[in-house]
Amino acid sequence: MTAAYPYPNSPQHIGHARTYTIADVNARYHRMKGYNTLFPMGFHYTGSPLFAMAKRLREGDPEIIETFTKIYGIPKSTQEKLKDPKSMASYFRDDIKKGMVEIGFSIDWRREFTTIDPLYSRYIEWHFRTLNRKGLITRGTHPVAWCPNDKSPVGVVDTQGDVEPDIGESFLVKFEKDGVFYPTSTLRPETVFGVTNLWVNSKATYVRAKVDEESWIVSRETAEKLQHQNHKVAVEREIQAPELLWKTVRNPVAGNEVHIFPGSFVETDNGTGIVMSVPGHAPYDYQALIDLKARNADSAEAGVILQATNPISIIRLEGFSDLPAKDLIEKFGVKDQNDPHLEHATQELYSKEFHDGVMRENTGSYSGMSVAKAREVIVQELTRQGKIEILLELRNAPLVCRCGTKCLVHILENQWFINYGDPEWKKLAHKCLDQMIILPEEIRAEFNYTLDWLRERACARTVGLGTKLPWDPNWIIEALSDSVVYMAYYILSKYFAKDWVIFKKFEKDPSKLPDAFFNFTLLGEGAVDRVAEETGVPKRILNAIRTEFEYFYPVDMRHSARELVSNHLSFYIFHHSTLFPERQWPKGIVANGFVLMEGAKMSKSLQNIIPLRQGIARFGADPVRVGVLATAELGQDTSFSEALATSIQERLATLLGQARKLGAKKTAGKSKPSTLDRWMISRLSNAVHAATTALDRVRVREAINIILYQLDNDVAWYNRRLGPKKPRSDNRGRILRRVLETRTRMMAPLAPHTAEEIWNRIGNKGFVVQNKWPEEKEMEKDPRAESAEGLIRHVLEDTSEILKATSITPKRIAYYTAADWKWQVYLKALKAADEKMRQGDFIKEVMGDPLLRSLGKSAADYAGKALQQANQMPDEMRKSRIQNGVTAEKTIFADAADFYAQEFKCAINVWKEGDQGITDPKERARMSEPYRPAIYLE
Ligand SMILES: [Zn+2]
Repeated sequence: MTAAYPYPNSPQHIGHARTYTIADVNARYHRMKGYNTLFPMGFHYTGSPLFAMAKRLREGDPEIIETFTKIYGIPKSTQEKLKDPKSMASYFRDDIKKGMVEIGFSIDWRREFTTIDPLYSRYIEWHFRTLNRKGLITRGTHPVAWCPNDKSPVGVVDTQGDVEPDIGESFLVKFEKDGVFYPTSTLRPETVFGVTNLWVNSKATYVRAKVDEESWIVSRETAEKLQHQNHKVAVEREIQAPELLWKTVRNPVAGNEVHIFPGSFVETDNGTGIVMSVPGHAPYDYQALIDLKARNADSAEAGVILQATNPISIIRLEGFSDLPAKDLIEKFGVKDQNDPHLEHATQELYSKEFHDGVMRENTGSYSGMSVAKAREVIVQELTRQGKIEILLELRNAPLVCRCGTKCLVHILENQWFINYGDPEWKKLAHKCLDQMIILPEEIRAEFNYTLDWLRERACARTVGLGTKLPWDPNWIIEALSDSVVYMAYYILSKYFAKDWVIFKKFEKDPSKLPDAFFNFTLLGEGAVDRVAEETGVPKRILNAIRTEFEYFYPVDMRHSARELVSNHLSFYIFHHSTLFPERQWPKGIVANGFVLMEGAKMSKSLQNIIPLRQGIARFGADPVRVGVLATAELGQDTSFSEALATSIQERLATLLGQARKLGAKKTAGKSKPSTLDRWMISRLSNAVHAATTALDRVRVREAINIILYQLDNDVAWYNRRLGPKKPRSDNRGRILRRVLETRTRMMAPLAPHTAEEIWNRIGNKGFVVQNKWPEEKEMEKDPRAESAEGLIRHVLEDTSEILKATSITPKRIAYYTAADWKWQVYLKALKAADEKMRQGDFIKEVMGDPLLRSLGKSAADYAGKALQQANQMPDEMRKSRIQNGVTAEKTIFADAADFYAQEFKCAINVWKEGDQGITDPKERARMSEPYRPAIYLE
């Protein structure tokens, strides 16, 4: 079992504890179930996060200094030492490890490593050489998200806020005037027929530049952007926007001239800073045109131009007027350009027109084509004529590098990529996923989507810590590529420890450790004699590593955060599916949501981050463990709060109190177990069943509820029923000890420290963690006892209600249970309801019985009522009541008479309807029914 190893660039906080605690609970649970469970941990040093954090500290970034000082409580003198990335890493690694020990994670620390250990680098070299040999590393020219400051590709781990870059294409449609081009960026080039004007930002600076062989006018930012996309760009001069306004340019397709208008909404770093306006079919343009017309015109000439500019209809759309943009503006009640409804209107129209729109007669040879088809054809034709080009954009801009620079799209030539687009590899990855347990199951779709969607992905960087690409040492393997098969390294790392022969031999010069070592230990390739000879590693050790790898691998459960599904966890599947044989593919993934603090997202700016070790010091290890798990199951975000931690503390203390009360001395029960005793044991057995089922599915919240809370209600009822006095025949001590002992075993994975303390207080030897998870025993389940206690409880509640409603202080209470004949009718009614018998037929059948017929109308009336009740009963209840048959209610209530007497402080009589010598002053007995005794108070 593994959990994502941490980046030691800050202390862990309460939120981090969730993934690891779930993993630890799962590991401990499986150990108690008899599995030899390996749960190791390492530290991820590689990549940019450490680098960036140390740099911000060096540069005296006030936000970081405040976070380190106020939230993390790191003294200024210590901060000085953290300015070097490696010192920072070892400082936080130490801190994180202490936290993991303090909270009680059952980790095998012998296998600890960091991703900059020389032998780990050697392992990553083997990993990449193997991928390369399989043809999965490609060199090529592909667009990547790019930091112009670092001159390096950026991925999700390199961005502020951990955002996965999303690169998309748009089309540059080139308007023209006097041999100069005005490229506008659009996703809908087919609407070029409907262009009435262009928009530029009237306050922005544009440039005239030589782009490849042409002259272009674009925003200043665009000139830089184009250079990153393989265009040769030479800026000739700057142009202020007013110089462009009210001029005309020619539509490259329709051939007409259109004017350039001012638009304050135009963003100069989006597209080219020049926007084509299609007011007939784009709600934003329609509204912008209305707003501009409503304003005082810049000049008389501008006013005339504006008045002559009107939307053009070029797409026919069923159910809309000639100008669908106008229809939607009206439908959404849009007020002006800043109205958020514009976005909804735009989305609705773009989608409708794409799927159902048809090009009108005024679109030349495209007339009559569907919009989708027209787009395809126009892109082909205009590309051939040089009137359209592709522009790549970050769809989720602005994307900011950890260094603080805005990222852009860069076409990287001769860069190294991992080819996740390889169709054979995709097949393997899907096959692996299809065989895996995914919890919660609903994220499987996200995995399938990611496996399909992934293409070539840049796998090297120029900045950060890490392993050099073995065949091109100018590049460092990036952090999401060197962290996807490290789970196998946990087997090796134990044998790479200091004092072991491999460390001594190769630590200084790991390059001397040949690939044959990894091929043998991890893949079983090669003969051990030859590998021993080639590596100089003794056969005994080679065999031991190989055996251990075969023993533990594959990873049965990988624990991680849900946000990593679309990258790390999918890569994990990809890489394992090609590196290892099928029997060593990963078996399962558990992904959890976030932890909220007092209901809010944790953030540095809200200062609501509690570092884990501070939390442990304040609340104790077990309350933190239970606290991060108690309020939600895997898929949901969970909420931690001080009140919650305190209430868990109290709960655990109560259990410790119960243990102290029971003491270490075991008392033997003297008598046969009573119905109540059997009820308690049956409840316990049910709880074991439910908790086992829950933990088998990693439904930890449910397990906590059963073990820490629900069972307490049962224990409280058991004690209440027995009352404060302790009769000689009482089995209470024995039963309660049994309950607490079983509960303690079930608590051990969740709250191990408290569980050990209880275990010891009740006089058990050794450690509870070394005991077995309790087994449910079918023979101890007693549905009759459960039903009897249910009845007693129900009647207790009914009686209390009556007392409350009537404010009577009773001297005597009488309970009348139903006569035998009613039971006979009742059970017949349950069966009749099961068979969907009609009321008339049922009554006829009942009255066919001579004994019941002799009772006359009262039997017929009751039969009708009983069938009605049976029909309305939940199926499960009906089935169990049929199975229970006649319940000896009189005996049950007679046994509980002392209990009722003590609860209500009065005399209790129990009669069965029709008993000889019955006292029934108000003739209540005839109102009794099975499971509903009649109650009389005086
Ligand atoms: Zn950067």
